Amino acid sequence: MVIVMGQEATGDDLASIVAVVQAAGVEAFVSRGVRRTIVGLVGDVAQLDEASLRGMPGVRDVMRVSTPYKLVSRENHPERSTVHVGGVPIGPGTVTLIAGPCAVETPQQTLEAARMAMAAGATLLRGGAFKPRTSPYAFQGLGEQGLRILADVREETGLPIVTEVVDAQDVELVASYADMLQVGTRNAQNFALLQAVGAAGRPVMLKRGMSATIEEWLMAAEYVAQRGNLDIVLCERGVRTFESATRNTLDISAVPVAQRLSHLPVIVDPSHSGGRRDLVLPLTRAAIAVGADGVIIDVHPHPEQALVDGPQALVNTDLGELAQVMRDFPPLLGKTAAAALAV
Ligand code: PEP
Ligand code: MN
Repeated sequence: MVIVMGQEATGDDLASIVAVVQAAGVEAFVSRGVRRTIVGLVGDVAQLDEASLRGMPGVRDVMRVSTPYKLVSRENHPERSTVHVGGVPIGPGTVTLIAGPCAVETPQQTLEAARMAMAAGATLLRGGAFKPRTSPYAFQGLGEQGLRILADVREETGLPIVTEVVDAQDVELVASYADMLQVGTRNAQNFALLQAVGAAGRPVMLKRGMSATIEEWLMAAEYVAQRGNLDIVLCERGVRTFESATRNTLDISAVPVAQRLSHLPVIVDPSHSGGRRDLVLPLTRAAIAVGADGVIIDVHPHPEQALVDGPQALVNTDLGELAQVMRDFPPLLGKTAAAALAV
C-alpha cells in the first residue's frame, strides 16, 4: 500500500499517519519529494482501514496495488499520463520528436544540429554534456561548458533541452540548465542517481537498461516516482541480444507492453537501437506505428567529424524524409505531431 501526501501536509500530519500505520504493526517508509511525500507501507496492510487513512489531514491518495511498482502502474492510474517539458507535451494523442547531437561538441555544431532538429519538426533538443562512455579514454563530454552551450542554443532557438546526468552529485548542476534530465541505459539501475533525479524537480527521461526486463525498467521508474516526481518518460533504446548486425535490438513490443503496465509515456530511440543511419527512419516509422509517444533521434551537421556516435546520426539530406514521417504518420494513428504548447 502507498499513501500519497500533498504539498500542504504538515510534519504533524505525516507523524499521525506514521503512528496509525505503526500501531497496526505495519512499517512506514517515508520519502519526501518536492511536490508530494510518499509513504510506502510494508507488512500486513489488511489491518489498515483505507477509508479512514484517506480521511486523515494531508492525505491525497491511498493505493492498494498488486504490481511491485505502484506509483507508475496503470493499475493505480488507469489514464495514460502526459509529461510536459518546457511546455512541450509527451503523451497520448501526440508524437513528440526530440532531436539533436549525441554529444555537445562546440557551440557551432550544437546550434547547427538544433537547426537540423527544427527542420525535421523537433520540439525538444537533445545533447549530452556529460557522456557515459564505455571506454575511459573516449570523449567524456564538455561538462558544465556543454550545459552552457545548450542553454545558449535554447536561447537562440527556443527549444527546451533534454540532457543526460550520469552522477548523483551532478544532478543539481544539470537540473539548473536542463528542461528534462536523461538517465541513460548504463545508469538505469543506479538507484542513488534515480533517487536524486526524483528529487530534482525536473521531468526525467529514463532509458531502459540494455539488459533490463520491462519490470526492472518500471521498478527503476518507481525509484524516481517514489521521490515525488511522476514526470517520467520511459525510453526504449534497444536491448542486448546475440545479434551483431545492429548495435542493439529494438524491442518494439516493449512499447505497448510498457504502456499497458504503466501510465507513463513511452518513447523510442531508433538511433541508439540500430546504431546505423540507414535504420533510423525505418525504426522511427515502426515506433510511431506501434504507438510510441515520441522518438529521440541523433542528428549531426558533420557526422564524419563527430566525437561520439557519428555512424548513427542523421545528416541534412535525411531531414526532409524525417519531417515527412513526423507529419504523415501520426495522423494515421489519430495523433498529431507535438507542437510547443503552453502548459
Ligand atoms: C544517449 O542518448 O546519448 C545515450 C548515451 O543513450 P543510451 O543511454 O541509450 O546508450
Ligand atoms: Mn550516443
